[in-house]
Amino acid sequence: TPLVGVLALQGDVREHLVALAAADAVARPVRRPGELAEVDALVIPGGESTTMSKLAELFGMAGPLRERIAAGMPVYGTCAGLIMLADKILDPRSGQETFGGIDMIVRRNAFGRQNESFEASVEVAGVGLVDGVFIRAPWVESVGAEVEVLAEHEGHIVAVRQGRALATSFHPELTGDHRMHALFAEMVRSGG
Ligand code: GLN
Repeated sequence: TPLVGVLALQGDVREHLVALAAADAVARPVRRPGELAEVDALVIPGGESTTMSKLAELFGMAGPLRERIAAGMPVYGTCAGLIMLADKILDPRSGQETFGGIDMIVRRNAFGRQNESFEASVEVAGVGLVDGVFIRAPWVESVGAEVEVLAEHEGHIVAVRQGRALATSFHPELTGDHRMHALFAEMVRSGG
């Protein structure tokens, strides 16, 4: 059985561990390079991407994470995790570095003040209608040719996949609906 890590530097780690368990994946938190080396796949949670970026540097995780992701480890990022998987951020805070892995440009806090947090039904390709929980969510401004757009909300890209990397602007880990985690677990198991 593949072992799925949840990056536990900052963010909604517990919720992802619960969702992965519900999707029949074996999961554990990952904080250190040695722990990263033991997992076959990784979830990057929602939270705050500037803080996550700083903590990753501080814990010596940024380099190892970039390398594992570039080498094709399956990854799934939600919200701040989606930002961390972007090859490029449109408006990075000074010093904010991502891990990369998906050929996309991301806009942080994109939905704006009037719409800081909201829920909306989102049609996700291959999954169906999901309840999208958006919290100061980013959207994907543009994607490269290798990236598959899985969902849009009001004309903005909110779910993508490139090879074995999956990302959503919204937080399925907060809804009790484990189909996105099941999709990821299937990507991990299938090895494809
Ligand atoms: N706005 C946050 C960021 O820039 C993401 C918010 C979230 O993960 N819910 O990192």
